[in-house]
Order: sequence, then C-alpha cells, then structure tokens
Amino acid sequence: MIDVLVAGGGPAGLATAIRCVQAGLSVTVAEPRTGPIDKACGEGLMPAAVTRLAALGVHPAGRPLRGIRYMDGSHRSDALFRHGPGLGVRRTTLHAALAARAAELEIAVLPRRVTGFTRRGGGVTAAGVEARYLVAADGLHSAIRRAAGLDPPPARHTRFGLRRHYRVAPWTDLVEVYWSRDAEAYVTPVAEDQVGVAVLGGGRGDYSSRLAAFPALRERLAGAAPASDIRGAGPLRQDVRRRTAGNVLLVGDASGYLDALTGEGIGAALAQAAVLADCVAAGRPDAYDRAWRRASRRSWLLTSGLLWARHQPLLAPRIVPAAQRLPRLFAIIVNLVGEA
Ligand SMILES: Cc1cc2nc3c(=O)[nH]c(=O)nc-3n(C[C@H](O)[C@H](O)[C@H](O)COP(=O)(O)OP(=O)(O)OC[C@H]3O[C@@H](n4cnc5c(N)ncnc54)[C@H](O)[C@@H]3O)c2cc1C
Repeated sequence: MIDVLVAGGGPAGLATAIRCVQAGLSVTVAEPRTGPIDKACGEGLMPAAVTRLAALGVHPAGRPLRGIRYMDGSHRSDALFRHGPGLGVRRTTLHAALAARAAELEIAVLPRRVTGFTRRGGGVTAAGVEARYLVAADGLHSAIRRAAGLDPPPARHTRFGLRRHYRVAPWTDLVEVYWSRDAEAYVTPVAEDQVGVAVLGGGRGDYSSRLAAFPALRERLAGAAPASDIRGAGPLRQDVRRRTAGNVLLVGDASGYLDALTGEGIGAALAQAAVLADCVAAGRPDAYDRAWRRASRRSWLLTSGLLWARHQPLLAPRIVPAAQRLPRLFAIIVNLVGEA
C-alpha cells in the first residue's frame, strides 16, 4: 500500500504529489489526460505563487509581471507588486514544468480517471491503487468530492470564464483588468509574441460578443490573430461542506473555489498542497480542514469582498474610479492578494 494516491494531475495535484514526496511519503498520481495539459485560465501567477513554485523546485518560463492595472471606459489605476514579480505563464508551460519536476522525483503518473473509491483495511482503493490516503485534486467539478459526500446542496452560481490567446507583442508588463457593466476582461502577457485574454462574468453570449463590451481592448487586439481555441470553465463558485472525509482530502479547486476575479487560484492551490502534505506526513489528516482555512483565509476574504462589491449595482461602477482616486489603498489590496 502506498501512502498517497492523488487524483488529478493539474497544478494542485502535482504540487501536492511533489510536496508529499519531499515530506518522505510514497505517492502516485492518477490523471486521465496526457500532457502538457491546457485549461481555461487567466495564467497570471501572483508573486506568492512564484515563490511557492520555486520551493517545489519548479521554475516555469514566462513573462515577469510587475503588477495589476484596472481600467474602465474613463478611469485607470496601476498597482505594482512590492515583493517581487508575478509571472504570466501558459498553462501548458506550467504543467510541463510541474510534470518534469514530478518525473525527476520519480512520481508515477497513471493514465486513469478516478470517479469513486472504496475504503478497506484502514486505506482507500481507487483506480486499482491501494493507498493510506486519497487526495482529490480533480478540479472545480470534483467527482471524488461528490462521492465522498462533501458537496453541499446545489446552489445557482452563474459566473464563468472564457479565454483565448492572441498573437501580438505584449504592450505592458502588468495584468490589465478591463471592467464593463457585467463582466471583466483580463489580459496577461505570456510570451514575447502572445497575450491571453480571459473574460469573466455571468449571463449569455459567446466569447466575441463578450469581448465587444470592451472597445479599448478590442482596439488593442485589432488585427491580432487568435493563437488558441476558446476554452471555458464554470460555474466558478464551488462550495464544499468541509475538506476531509476520513482519509479522503480535497485540494485546489476541488476543495472549494470562489472566483477568478483576483487571479490567485493557483497560488491558493499551492498553499493548500503544502499544508496538506504537512498534515498527512504528521499523521494528522483531521488537522487539514483547519489548516486549509488558515492557508486560504486571506485570499478567500479578499475575493469574496471584491465579488460582493462587484454584485452591488451602486458600488460596481465605482470600483475602478475608487482605485484611481485611492492608488495607495489599491496597491495595498493588490499586494495583500499577491502575497496571499
Ligand atoms: C477563466 C479563469 C481564469 C483564471 N485565472 C487565473 C489566474 O490568472 N491566476 C490563477 O492563479 N488562477 C486563475 N484561475 C484559477 C485556476 O485556473 C485554478 O485555480 C487552478 O487551475 C486550480 O488547479 P487544480 O489543479 O485544482 O484544478 P485543474 O487545473 O482543473 O486540474 C484538475 C485536474 O484533474 C484532472 N481530473 C479531472 N477529473 C478527474 C478524475 N475523475 N480523475 C483524475 N483526474 C481528474 C483534470 O484532467 C485536470 O488535469 C482562473 C480560472 C478560470 C476559470
């Protein structure tokens, strides 16, 4: 019997596997898709995420990011990172770097999907593997979370995200966030000739009609050829009863997700992976739920605060003007998110 079976080989799953091996545990990953794996994502790594990846021995190539810019039709505010740069990095590049590090540590990755598990002899069996612990890192719509009875009653959440890349030289080294009445568009430089554009929001409409709500951005992209297919994800918000059911533990998006509005999902997943490995290595899976909440608290609070303001009809149009009028406060908030 191995120590840990990780279901899902995205950033959360591979980071958990690497951390567990670094803590002296035996680990196998089950991931049905062949790499390098792509996903709908804004692809902006906050400074804390870059630091956490480096601690795993993972150094993906990308474009250094100096901060965040908020823009609407007539306002604009820049907030710079104070504790080192973030990184704009294609998901395929990030996945390849994590997978290479996992291979270096001789972590087996089985091409299998895990949809359920059985408990036997103090362990868990899933996808034909017997392990002391099963870690669900299978993303927003986690099948294992459902099988473990950790899904709350269904609720209606409507925000989702779509992204596409464009072949154009980045015009800035900030992540630009364009705000419209109902949606936000994120532009992240990811290579010297490529930017990613993610659109977040609710309601109906395909990618092009959503982009039409951002005339300044459309002008920037005029003539730029698409460099990837459109990918989507959602609903973004996923509530979870708790992060553990005995020796089944949830990490990353599978462990609960609010929104991509503040762009720190990967950083949060890396922080959760670290505390999960510590709890399992110490034989204290029961301590993980509380450790998860401590590790995720700051980003959860900041994202839910901004999301709340976003949904207030009187407040939402004032977010970018307020960031312009109060640049120091905006910089403090951006840095709290960047280091969360
Ligand atoms: C539009 C959008 C923009 C975003 N922008 C940013 C951003 O700029 N910065 C940032 O940090 N975060 C961003 N995020 C969030 C970020 O993408 C996620 O937080 C991150 O991908 C979580 O990683 P994960 O490993 O938990 O899940 P995933 O990346 O979804 O990986 C899950 C893995 O599990 C595998 N899997 C699924 N089902 C099974 C199964 N049954 N058995 C085994 N394996 C399975 C999948 O194939 C996949 O490889 C954004 C998200 C969206 C939707």
